[in-house]
Amino acid sequence: MMLPPLWGAVMGAILGVISASYVATVLRRWPRGQSASHGRSACEGCGARLRWFELLPIISFILQRGRCRRCAQPIAADHFWVEWTGLALGAAIGWFWPMTQGLALLAGVMLATLLFALDARHQWLPHHLSWALAIWGLALGGWVLAGVSAANFTDRLVGMAAGYATLSLIAIIYRWWSGRDGLGGGDPPLFAAIGAIGGWQILPSTLFLASLGGLAVAVLRLAIARQAGQDWRQMRLPLGSLLLLALPFAIALSP
Ligand SMILES: [Zn+2]
Repeated sequence: MMLPPLWGAVMGAILGVISASYVATVLRRWPRGQSASHGRSACEGCGARLRWFELLPIISFILQRGRCRRCAQPIAADHFWVEWTGLALGAAIGWFWPMTQGLALLAGVMLATLLFALDARHQWLPHHLSWALAIWGLALGGWVLAGVSAANFTDRLVGMAAGYATLSLIAIIYRWWSGRDGLGGGDPPLFAAIGAIGGWQILPSTLFLASLGGLAVAVLRLAIARQAGQDWRQMRLPLGSLLLLALPFAIALSP
């Protein structure tokens, strides 16, 4: 079913912001070992249970100027940024995609957003999330991305295996050469997921674009660290986040 683009964009934005609100909750709770589905939403400062009007994505944050109404503790800006991201991505998907494919795409994009944010904020790529994204790519990629990716099912299956093997091999070589771990353990499953979404053809360009992005981030961090007098050698680049960011560009650039 095809909705007019504007209605699709509005619906996509609403669904995007609602799912992003859940993604933000997971992003806050999982790294502390808390469940996102159990327990009522509470202020992280005073622990007071939040009322429904304090839980409206984006709107509550703006109305309360980013603070708790009771204890004035700043609300984590994670919520705000993840929800805006969900709104923008949902609107774009709703504009360009038919409804059923759009819903499937939104689910995959939200999973990728969660992985992106967990790696960027906590240097953590949970394996089961990466494998879930890989299964999403294998099962739905061909149908959802029919207009933008030429990869078929075999390309995706090969892509998943090749993605996993490539980053595992790079990690092994790096460890042998330098005597320490250079890659996070979560990177090979994520690169497998990227191969399962876009096919093996996009793996080199995704890695190349992510490296370019990493170089830019490293130069920026180095400049900041120098000014602040920090040790830049202790910093780890979120390769997973960079790969996920590079993925749509790699798919768009592929013939
Ligand atoms: Zn509070």
